[in-house]
Amino acid sequence: MELVAFPSTEAEFRACFADEDQCRAYLARLKWPEGFRCAHCGGETAYFLPSKRVVYECARCGRQVSLIAGTIFEQSKKPFALWFRAIFEVTASKQGISAAELHRKLGLGSYQTAWSWLQKIRGAMVRPNREPLSGEVEIDESYVGGPEAGKPGRAAEEKAIVAAAVEKRGRGCGRVRLGLLTSVSASALIGFVQNHLDGGQIAHTDGWRGYAKLGKTGYQHIVSVLSRLDQTAAEVLPRVHLIFSLLKRWILGTHQGSVSLKHLQGYLEEFAFRFNRRHARRITHGAERLLGIAIVTPPRPFWNIVGRSPPQVKARLAALT
Ligand SMILES: [Zn+2]
Repeated sequence: MELVAFPSTEAEFRACFADEDQCRAYLARLKWPEGFRCAHCGGETAYFLPSKRVVYECARCGRQVSLIAGTIFEQSKKPFALWFRAIFEVTASKQGISAAELHRKLGLGSYQTAWSWLQKIRGAMVRPNREPLSGEVEIDESYVGGPEAGKPGRAAEEKAIVAAAVEKRGRGCGRVRLGLLTSVSASALIGFVQNHLDGGQIAHTDGWRGYAKLGKTGYQHIVSVLSRLDQTAAEVLPRVHLIFSLLKRWILGTHQGSVSLKHLQGYLEEFAFRFNRRHARRITHGAERLLGIAIVTPPRPFWNIVGRSPPQVKARLAALT
């Protein structure tokens, strides 16, 4: 079946991606938008090998290529139709979905599978070479996770420093970017800003000294210092404070606060993905975007999914405590 336009309703999505052939054909079109081209001989015709499920063979030279090598689907033996359904569930829901809900909804073999799928899907929420933020941008940082208010001191190692940058669009917000920081030092904060904001743009921060050199780093720097006692930080940088309160509420709500530091970056990516598409008209918009990214996104390293940490990450986590 040739897909003329991406399905726009849940019913259409289910009908379009109901079986393996439909899903595989769609992924093949994403992988080879100009049609198949053999990386070895340049041949332009390939045959699908049904016995191998995900393998195409070049008609000219006979080389075989996997549709899903180097993507989040690699190594999964589960049907594509189930993956498509999971991607729909995660992206269509306004508040996201927990691993337990995904497990129940899809009837996946185990909670663990649902959890690792969620992690992989989050890994496909960042488009490579995405456009930097532009115009005037509010930037701030906050502590996320860890003990709730009123229980100071406990489990301090589970507190993370999260930086946020959000575009000002009139009185509202444009796009947002979030990042996990190792500290609130100038180098960490300026590094975050440089990752997400082109030089020459306007960076609006509070008076924290970590931001002091932004003006000398090629940005127009607006500093709002809390000058009056009755002024709150939320009044000075309202958009970025809104982002932090939504983020914290989402972590406490959908995920019941059970977000470990090791996996926080994935949650931040999911939050930003959903926030940046909040005005999308079609319920399938997020799924379409995510599938496009997924076909070119390498799977996350195993340690990141099972929670083991390579040495440099251990050092980074230790620095957070
Ligand atoms: Zn070939």
